[in-house]
Amino acid sequence: MFASIATALLLGCVSACTRKNDGATARASASGTTPAVSSVTDTPAAASNATSAASASTTSASAAASTGADAARVPNELGRIPVVEYHLITDHDALYARERNHFRRDLEEIYARDYRPVTISQILDRKIDLPRGLSPIVFVFDDASPSQFSYIERNGKLEIDPQSGLGIWLDFRKTHPGWSNSAVFCMLPGAAAGHNFFGDKGIDGQKTEWRFPKVRFLHDQGFELCSHTLWHANLGKYSDAVVQEQIARGQLAIDSAVPGYKVRTFALPLGVWPKNRALAKQGSWTDPKKGTVVRYNNEAILEVSGGPTRSPYDPQFNPLSITRIEAIGNDPVRTLDQLDKNGNRYVSDGNPAVVARPAAPTK
Ligand SMILES: [Zn+2]
Repeated sequence: MFASIATALLLGCVSACTRKNDGATARASASGTTPAVSSVTDTPAAASNATSAASASTTSASAAASTGADAARVPNELGRIPVVEYHLITDHDALYARERNHFRRDLEEIYARDYRPVTISQILDRKIDLPRGLSPIVFVFDDASPSQFSYIERNGKLEIDPQSGLGIWLDFRKTHPGWSNSAVFCMLPGAAAGHNFFGDKGIDGQKTEWRFPKVRFLHDQGFELCSHTLWHANLGKYSDAVVQEQIARGQLAIDSAVPGYKVRTFALPLGVWPKNRALAKQGSWTDPKKGTVVRYNNEAILEVSGGPTRSPYDPQFNPLSITRIEAIGNDPVRTLDQLDKNGNRYVSDGNPAVVARPAAPTK
């Protein structure tokens, strides 16, 4: 029956293991998606100018420490990976807001279920080096609001607000071994209402000059920096030229904060593709003042929804359409329930050299 087939699929790496550098080839096309309302409107604000040049840079990939992972959990590195998407971290739950204690509960629940954070870059590079029995999960924080990362100034010293999303994350990390800073921030450098590298112009007490140091701090701590356009333009509404300006200037601003940082991941504002879809991946924009050409070439594109994404070892993995789960209501935990129920959860084998594949189904 179907149940026995599902069980057989999970018998593990008996005769079906391959090396981790075998692999899937990315497809260039990307699937459709449903537009959604966001906490950031399609509205420009004064955008910062960005200046510095690009060179190579990497995001650190940190392996989780040994934990009490369920030893009976059968490795399956072709399983699905949840990519959970957060917006505001605040004092109430809403469509695009997570109440702080709810966010803390998410972290506890996810940790207890033996998930550990990885970045999109780690997935692209197939460096999901978790101990056996643990599963990867990606946390993505969209829109760069002060609620995600605030400073408090005390006696001329800046402290991370423990009530901001980052403060909660770092606090959680202190007491949870193996929890790394492998999360992804998809940022805006020029949107309204403080959605400008985590706050400007005194909004929520945040000073404009703190913006670049915040982005640098995230990079220094091992988080992945991701672009989300300049001011959250609905790319489906604009010309090819504006689409490229939005994406190029979003990337350029990150480069200004962290010179040489190679942006690899791009999140579509509102989940909306440009009319010319290829421009989400690759394009260029010429700075009219300086005449310099800014080129971009995104390796991963994040959709706004669509459920857990495929493993990078799955032949159908498409980095140009990485689906996500919005942190609305109980959806993150429900997703983890479904992965266990359906038997298609990515579970690491603890061996970076081998891909643990489900055994071929017997009759
Ligand atoms: Zn957004």
